[in-house]
Amino acid sequence: MFMSRRDFVVSTALAGALGLNAKLAISPAFAQQTPDLAKGFLTYKIGDAEVTALHDGIWEKPHDPAFIANASIDDVKAAMVKAGLPPDFVSIPFTVVVVKNGGRTILCDSGTGGQVQPTAGRMMANMKAAGIDPAKIDTILISHFHPDHIFGLMEKGTNAPVFPNAEIVVSDVEYKFWTDPSVFDRLNEARKGLAKRIQTVFPVWKNIRQVSGEPEVAPGIRFVNAPGHTPGHRAFHLSSGASQLMISNDTAYVPALVVANPGWHGQYDQDAPLAEASRRTLLDRMIADKVLICGYHFPFPGAGMISKDGDGYALTGIKA
Ligand SMILES: [Zn+2]
Repeated sequence: MFMSRRDFVVSTALAGALGLNAKLAISPAFAQQTPDLAKGFLTYKIGDAEVTALHDGIWEKPHDPAFIANASIDDVKAAMVKAGLPPDFVSIPFTVVVVKNGGRTILCDSGTGGQVQPTAGRMMANMKAAGIDPAKIDTILISHFHPDHIFGLMEKGTNAPVFPNAEIVVSDVEYKFWTDPSVFDRLNEARKGLAKRIQTVFPVWKNIRQVSGEPEVAPGIRFVNAPGHTPGHRAFHLSSGASQLMISNDTAYVPALVVANPGWHGQYDQDAPLAEASRRTLLDRMIADKVLICGYHFPFPGAGMISKDGDGYALTGIKA
């Protein structure tokens, strides 16, 4: 169904050879329909901490009846419309956050590295546009090991480290799950290549630190257990003075769907009932504590406030 990354490169090269604008030469089924952002970064303050949201791109996911186990495609389309989004596909943006706090420059997940969807891979360009030198990133927090969150750590083809001088902090549960030699028996076909790449790369790197539980992992930032999406999935809680931000990662990945309908079980939630429980706990905490939340797949700039809305929740986003 999808044009693969390689097909995309070929068609772009072909377009170049023909002197065409690459965008025009891509098949209409593939071309990005979401308008590009005028500015792919936004900086805001949480107390003394400086937070910068970086747009990495978007996946316009074609509808698939398997995507939400307990909702139909019509239900999904209606939810997209209710959130003010086009119904023709599921909008899944990728937004990486950089936090500057306590003298550290902390990258929260690493983007797609241009290796997940042809319409994503802009994090580095937007980081530079935001005035952040990638060489100055000294800490990287990883929420979980899905490709859109870790492929930005490794170069395409060679797996060379993109941030060799940064300390990469991961949950020990997540690390052990993916590097267990028997994990292949517990994964569906689509995830086996991912586990193979992780097992090839991470054990060789010397700059990965595994942590247990919910410790402070960087100045003002704690891991928060939010399992289900993957076994060791973590949110990151930033606190500075009286201000807080819950960097929720994929706990409520597409808010139009699972913030509004927290009981919907997504195909990418490895343990969907556990993911639902983590989601409800986190969203209830946001309401009780009245603090800002951001999410890796929330509409850019990806931050907002949660409120109760009928049987579900609503996200009121801040404006870019
Ligand atoms: Zn994700």
